[in-house]
Amino acid sequence: MESQKLVEKSSQYLWLPFTQMKDYDENPLIIESGEGVRLRDIDGNEYLDGYSSLWLNVHGHRKEEINIAIKQQLDKIAHSTLLGAANVPSILLAEKLIDLAPNNLKRVFYSDSGATSVEIAIKMAYQYWQNKGRGKKQKFITLQNAYHGDTVGAISVGKVDIFHRVYKSLMFDSLVVPFPDPYHHPESLDPETIRDRALEELENLLKEHHEEIAGMTVESIIQGAGGMNIMPKGYLKGIEKLCRKYEVLLIVDEVATGFGRTGKMFAVEHEGVEPDIMTVAKGITAGYLPIAATLTTEEIYQAFYDDYTSLKTFFHGHSYTGNQLGCAAALANLEIFEKEQLVQQVQMKSKLIETLLEPLSEHPHVGDIRQLGMICGIELVKDKEKKIPFEWSQRIGYWTTIKMRELGMLTRPVGDTIVFMPPLVTSEKELEEMVSIMKAAIEEMTNKAASTVEV
Ligand code: PMP
Repeated sequence: MESQKLVEKSSQYLWLPFTQMKDYDENPLIIESGEGVRLRDIDGNEYLDGYSSLWLNVHGHRKEEINIAIKQQLDKIAHSTLLGAANVPSILLAEKLIDLAPNNLKRVFYSDSGATSVEIAIKMAYQYWQNKGRGKKQKFITLQNAYHGDTVGAISVGKVDIFHRVYKSLMFDSLVVPFPDPYHHPESLDPETIRDRALEELENLLKEHHEEIAGMTVESIIQGAGGMNIMPKGYLKGIEKLCRKYEVLLIVDEVATGFGRTGKMFAVEHEGVEPDIMTVAKGITAGYLPIAATLTTEEIYQAFYDDYTSLKTFFHGHSYTGNQLGCAAALANLEIFEKEQLVQQVQMKSKLIETLLEPLSEHPHVGDIRQLGMICGIELVKDKEKKIPFEWSQRIGYWTTIKMRELGMLTRPVGDTIVFMPPLVTSEKELEEMVSIMKAAIEEMTNKAASTVEV
């Protein structure tokens, strides 16, 4: 079909997620194919994939070994339910995940997206306490600016004002503690002081409310959609200690950070943290197919293990849970991780990215560059000295990424922070290309925006 027709039909029939469709209609984009870290649209224009096709691509597009694994699985079976029955790839993958995950995690509960893995974590923690006869423990603690996905349970522990405010009366209430965020802290204190104060505040809350609290949800080391904010060292470990002390289940969300993205297989390894429940998705299939998993301890699993009539069963499941094609893709993905020593590669590339981004930190409208492995956020500000943001109406993040698209690279911003999250296999040359496109777009768009208002 000719491309103009497809554009018209996309505007006529589609409603895209997290997209103001007026924006889409003004700047439509239809991707047709991909190879390595490049995406191609229906007119043959190529773009570097600067956001790993929404934070999940690992090996670039069309990785031979994963394609083969999926095709081989297709010749056996595409799907069979996991409700009351197992399937072969789901067993092998569960074993592999438990092998890779922190030592205390022993059981795998599958689902099909990051948000569903979080829903499961919440319901599992809630029911765990019911099953243990401590049914008063029903609430959750979460962090300011947290993002855990878009289903109603996940938004109830989500605290990004612009995404979540509108659904307020639809959600259950959770308790919120501040995220220790050195860059945005009003008093600009050092990270250790901010961390210690945040832990103190958490402990005060726990002292008072621990009898009612089932669990605490937290993104692993870095908050993604809430602005690419990185915790000070020792904060996650501090949370773990307090959760143990006050008998609150620690639920760590590794949906965005899992599978090598931060330079460790899971970001909790940076702090030696062992969550009671850990959620994974995105990179699990290297971005190929929708599966996710919620990993937990034997202790939690055992609290559900009883005669059916006791009603301790975990009554939760989705039709595509543990889909065999997804599990086969995930197994092939994890094999490549080992073969290509990908986690070590990320550690090396992380240093390279740091060096490449360094000159940008001098830019008068780059307020902060936050990086953990191959996750980076570049925050654009109107006034660097006073940390004053651009006007909301200027949409500097959005327009900078549109400029980047013109220059041959795709990503999306979170607010005024440009997300740079390339596939883990991006080569040195491709990283250089991406950074130079980002620089050019930031230069042009921030100058333009700054000249339209008084700085
Ligand atoms: N948790 C985190 C930390 C995420 O970043 C995301 C998605 N970006 C989710 C959960 C939700 O994952 P999904 O989009 O697969 O539902």
